[in-house]
Amino acid sequence: MSRYIGPNCRLCRRSGEKLMLKGDRCFTPKCAVERRPRPPGKSAGSRRRLSDRGMQLKEKQKARYTYELMERQFRRFFGIAEKQTGNTSNSLMIMLERRLDNVVFRLGLADSRSQARQLVTHGHISINDRVTNIPSALVKAGDKISWKESSKKSEYFKLLAERIESKVMPNWLTLDKQNMVGQVISLPTPADIDAKFSGKAIIEYYSR
Ligand code: SF4
Repeated sequence: MSRYIGPNCRLCRRSGEKLMLKGDRCFTPKCAVERRPRPPGKSAGSRRRLSDRGMQLKEKQKARYTYELMERQFRRFFGIAEKQTGNTSNSLMIMLERRLDNVVFRLGLADSRSQARQLVTHGHISINDRVTNIPSALVKAGDKISWKESSKKSEYFKLLAERIESKVMPNWLTLDKQNMVGQVISLPTPADIDAKFSGKAIIEYYSR
C-alpha cells in the first residue's frame, strides 16, 4: 500500500493548523507552523478566499493527513462508514480511531502515527496475543494490545518504559504501564476524539 513520504510539517502548513504529526517536536518552537505560519509554495501569499468546495476539501485533507492515509484508503473507510446505520460522520471518526496504528499511538507506545504504523508493520505488536502487522486492523472493545515477547528486548522498548509514566490515556483505553499492555475498554465516542476536522464537511465533499 502506497503512503505519503514527503515532509509531514508541509501537510500542517498546507492545512493551516498544527496536526501534531511529529510527536514531541510539535510541542517545541521548532514546529514549522509556529515558525512559518503560511502555506508552502511560491504562491502562498496570494491565496484567495476558499469556496465551499475548497473548505470541504480542506477538512477532508486534514482528516486524511491526521490519520496519514492515502485518498484511496480514506475513501474506502468513508464508504464503509456510509453503509453503517446512524451518523456517517461519527461512524467515520470512530472507525479511524479504531485503527491499530492509531491505537498504538493513543496508548503512547509511539510518538506519532507513522512511528506506530512502523511498529505494527514490523511485527512488534499483538492483538489478543496474535502478532498483527496490519495497521488498518480495527480493534474491538475488550481487545488486548501488547508487544511481541522478543520485541521487549529492544532498546526502543526499554526507553519507552521510562518515558511512558506521564502519558495520559484517552477514556476508552487503558495501559498497564508495568507490562506495557493496553486494553480497549470500550469503543471511542465522538466526544473522546479530539478531531481537528469537520466530519460534516467531509460528508458534503463526498456527497457531490
Ligand atoms: Fe505539524 Fe508537528 Fe510539524 Fe508542527 S512540528 S508543523 S505540528 S508536524
